[in-house]
Amino acid sequence: MNAPQRITVHAASGRLSLTWDDGRTQSIDNTTLRERCPCSTCRRLAHSGEARLDSPRVAIVDMQPMGYGMQIVFSDGHAQGIYPWEYLKRLD
Ligand SMILES: [Zn+2]
Repeated sequence: MNAPQRITVHAASGRLSLTWDDGRTQSIDNTTLRERCPCSTCRRLAHSGEARLDSPRVAIVDMQPMGYGMQIVFSDGHAQGIYPWEYLKRLD
């Protein structure tokens, strides 16, 4: 699966927008991204029902493309999540 053609962080509205090969533009809330972090720690917390964000107003401070997806660094300091493109496309 190809990377999005365009990735834009909308700081004011707290959303990330991704424009895919098929022309579809997807907009994902930062809080949703953070809550659905695919790293092993977050997945374990989510399964145990303990996943609660300290601050729901989390922002994206950095992104690193990793080939099959991208690493997202959040303002709460969490940077373990690498989001595969396929996974991002299914988030809404
Ligand atoms: Zn995580």
